[in-house]
Amino acid sequence: MSDCIFCKIAAGEIPSNKVYEDDKIIAIHDLNPMAPVHVLFIPKEHYCCANAINEENCDIVGHIFSKIPKVAKELGLENGYRIVNNCGEDGGQTVMHIHFHLLGGKKLKVDMA
Ligand code: IMP
Repeated sequence: MSDCIFCKIAAGEIPSNKVYEDDKIIAIHDLNPMAPVHVLFIPKEHYCCANAINEENCDIVGHIFSKIPKVAKELGLENGYRIVNNCGEDGGQTVMHIHFHLLGGKKLKVDMA
């Protein structure tokens, strides 16, 4: 999508602080970290949100989850971490290109609301 910031980051048109990249995904440090480690896992293909995931394309989610433990280990998150996906307005999604937050580096508060 031409005006999507994460599409532009994935295409290298906007600089980012990259921690991982392959042909399908990119992982970058969040611009506004909410924890000592805050990385975003972003598919290169544009999907607006979790609602766009279905039986045909759900491999991308598995691919992201297969890379998260490796990146978490590299970033020193031996003691655990949190994975978050915000979907839509009520879910708090602000960038409409699906992404998964990896948060860690401290004992995170449990706040589901
Ligand atoms: P959301 O609220 O779940 O959609 O998360 C969007 C995240 O993207 C927020 O944590 C923002 O800080 C982050 N973000 C927005 N623009 C950029 C950027 O250009 N680089 C890195 N992170 C960004």
